[in-house]
Amino acid sequence: MPSNKSEPALRMDTTLAHAGRHSAENHGFVNPPVIHASTVLFPDTATMLSGKQRYVYGRRGTPTTEALEEAITELEGAAGARLATSGLNAISLALLSCLSAGDHVLIVDSAYGPTRHFCETVLKRMNIEVEYYDPALRAGIAGLFKANTKAILTEAPGSLSFEMQDIPQIADIAHARGALVLMDNTWATPLYFPAISHGVDLSIQAATKYIVGHSDVMIGTVAASERAIEGLKTTHGAMGVHVGPDDVYLALRGLRTMGVRLRQHMESGLTIARWLETHPLVERVRHPALESDPGHAIWKRDFKGACGLFAFDFRKGVTIEQSHAFIDALKLFGLGYSWGGFESLVIPVRLAGMRTASALPEGGPSVRLHIGLEDVEDLRRDIEQAFDVISR
Ligand SMILES: *Cc1c(COP(=O)(O)O)cnc(C)c1O
Repeated sequence: MPSNKSEPALRMDTTLAHAGRHSAENHGFVNPPVIHASTVLFPDTATMLSGKQRYVYGRRGTPTTEALEEAITELEGAAGARLATSGLNAISLALLSCLSAGDHVLIVDSAYGPTRHFCETVLKRMNIEVEYYDPALRAGIAGLFKANTKAILTEAPGSLSFEMQDIPQIADIAHARGALVLMDNTWATPLYFPAISHGVDLSIQAATKYIVGHSDVMIGTVAASERAIEGLKTTHGAMGVHVGPDDVYLALRGLRTMGVRLRQHMESGLTIARWLETHPLVERVRHPALESDPGHAIWKRDFKGACGLFAFDFRKGVTIEQSHAFIDALKLFGLGYSWGGFESLVIPVRLAGMRTASALPEGGPSVRLHIGLEDVEDLRRDIEQAFDVISR
């Protein structure tokens, strides 16, 4: 995109449609070419040794990978971005880009489970001190910083418990202590939470979810602030992270429609969430865009929207077995991990054993729903008939 500082920035939907495309350089074709490549040829040794040729080797970037990196950089308002082989790889890459042996890192207790596993295995083996903290901490987080704290990882809302975090306040405190702020921003995406402009230095997307949007590719992205970009570039290059061109292409294709898809996920998700709040078998709905949610004030202050992922807790007295029977009775919701695709999904929420720094959220058995792009009334009726199965 031509960027002219005197003109107002383009709005998100326009950026989604245009970012990373260079049609004039590609014979006019609307979409960038899918380049399958390892070797790149040089015209002569002088050019090879000059280091000035734009592309030098497949792993180091192609017009296809750069198109997606450029689009992510623009969407995130970042200094730059790098692609990763999965969302989890984006998280490990971001952590390794700013941590060394002897450092201390703060990890939110509600973080995505495999993030925690990476910290418990690889980071600990590298002699990095890992400390978990309560997602509810705001100013109180200051007391956890040490002289060797180099980074704090945030995630809001948590993808099982849906607790919110005060990201701007955490970022102010972290920056005053010289630490970088990482955020797994998969739930809101940069469309609904522009993380970098709220103080995040490494904004992580499991692009597998809403960017791809069709449940057919694993890919991740990390966008960096000026403070964090050099570390990200160096670590990404050193580790040899590379994503295949067909997957990059599918992520670019998904990006073009992410704005309209997310608006529908949000609308249908809220319709179902509000209806669930009124259902006699439901104790509470974990969705920060609901006025009843404890994280609502932060959500309203900082976020511009919500995706289609949330959970609800059954009334006390409903057994785990009944909650499983409810899940098994659903016909339109697939039982499977992941989310962000066009289709509705469900999983039982199991938080036991996943927390060390904060209490497990209370309540009856919990169920996580991803509200897809199906007709919302069909989805509501499906949930209703599954409730009927267990209340019979
Ligand atoms: C799915 C997910 C990831 C990991 O993404 P993968 O592409 O599956 O590795 C990271 N964070 C959150 C919040 C997720 O839901």
